[in-house]
Amino acid sequence: MKLSLNELEEQIVDAGYKLTFARKSITDIFLRYNDSQLTAEDFYKLINDSHEKIGIATIYRTLSLLTELGILSKLNLDDTHSRYELKNEGVLKCYMVCKSCGQIIGVQKIPLYALFSDVNDYFEFEIDSMNIIVKGLCASCHIISK
Ligand SMILES: [Zn+2]
Repeated sequence: MKLSLNELEEQIVDAGYKLTFARKSITDIFLRYNDSQLTAEDFYKLINDSHEKIGIATIYRTLSLLTELGILSKLNLDDTHSRYELKNEGVLKCYMVCKSCGQIIGVQKIPLYALFSDVNDYFEFEIDSMNIIVKGLCASCHIISK
């Protein structure tokens, strides 16, 4: 699902929240880096490289609110940092993560309806989301470990 900035802003306002500078900046970054999995530190760098300043605590609070509102998904792909991405409904996402450097090598999206049409029909269960995390070594870490 491709969302526009207005749609994301509307979701925040419709849920009864004000569109603060931090909320606006973070949703804006998600659209600019569409399909990326970003950490709170990534946001901190991206926002504070521009002229405005937002503290890391505000970024954490905003990311957690946007997750509660169902706009973002929180991912724990490795043991170090939580990552956030725009919520994708109806797809199975398979993340390939290097267990040495933590880099995300790729994300494969598979439509859920194709995989689970039987589950939907038989159990009358509507699957919302599903993730698979594949851990291994990326090309550069693989060379170092040899
Ligand atoms: Zn690596």
